[in-house]
Amino acid sequence: MKKVHNRYKKTVELVGKGGIVWLPVPGEIDRAVLEKFHEREYLREINFDEDEIARIDYTIAASELHGVEEYLDRGGLFFLGGGFHHETPKTGTFGRFNDVGIVLKHLEERFPRRMVIDLDCHHGNGLEIGFYDDPTVLYFSMHREDLWPHTGKIVDLGSIRAFGFNVNYPLRKDVEPEEYLGALSALLEYLVSGFRPEFIVYIAGADIDREDGFAGLSEFGVEEIIRRDLVVREHIRKANVPHLVVLGGGWGVNAPEIHYNTWRVFAGDLPGKRLQVYRGGLPPDRLRKIKFIREVTAGVFSRKPGKGIYSTFAKG
Ligand SMILES: [Zn+2]
Repeated sequence: MKKVHNRYKKTVELVGKGGIVWLPVPGEIDRAVLEKFHEREYLREINFDEDEIARIDYTIAASELHGVEEYLDRGGLFFLGGGFHHETPKTGTFGRFNDVGIVLKHLEERFPRRMVIDLDCHHGNGLEIGFYDDPTVLYFSMHREDLWPHTGKIVDLGSIRAFGFNVNYPLRKDVEPEEYLGALSALLEYLVSGFRPEFIVYIAGADIDREDGFAGLSEFGVEEIIRRDLVVREHIRKANVPHLVVLGGGWGVNAPEIHYNTWRVFAGDLPGKRLQVYRGGLPPDRLRKIKFIREVTAGVFSRKPGKGIYSTFAKG
């Protein structure tokens, strides 16, 4: 956990005083809100007196939730932390609470259609499990296919009730930036225009950096990750809905700089940088996965949520 604190601290130094940043501050979460995502049994097992990680994660989730409450009406919020996407409703891993899951559940009445763009290098198994049967949340992840937790297959598209509302794009470690950015852009275009989210969470994992200690994509460095963030920002702007940016993973020397750049991209401040939003197409041989996702989810978003795949079968 020591590394985590250094990373946040260094990012704070880089960010300085200006801008839309929300820092973890002590706060409380209603038990009823926690229980919307995490199961009561699981919560009962957590011993706050003995479990330091639980106390830290609780603080992070609580302040993120309060930041969302306070800032969402102003458009967007950049939260300096969070993105603990491995915690499922009934299990913890490195952490104890799934901050994003808790926020999404908390906002379910206010925003009936919520979307997650998870670009951490790992698959967010906790979020996938938490919302696999929930057509009000569209979970979209691009992640390395060969890493723990080894979930997030392209064929895992949601339960029957929520088919098409879980979209995975697994990556090779050496995926070319052009393929990555092209697929990201094409899928965001398809998913945002089809699903029409009213609230978006972006998990801006810094752990796709090639220098990352635990993960990394070999062709990605600080500059390529700025291009990634610009693609996401473009689509969130187009959607024109309240959004929350959280940091996700990052265990390398560049993590603070990457988080800082994400903040600059979303605050609209990139001094001295001449960076273009990616507008290229995908090489034809790379289109397979996107084609698959589009074909199997065709018509999904025009159906009423909850109707599921049965209605498609019934018509045929
Ligand atoms: Zn990660």
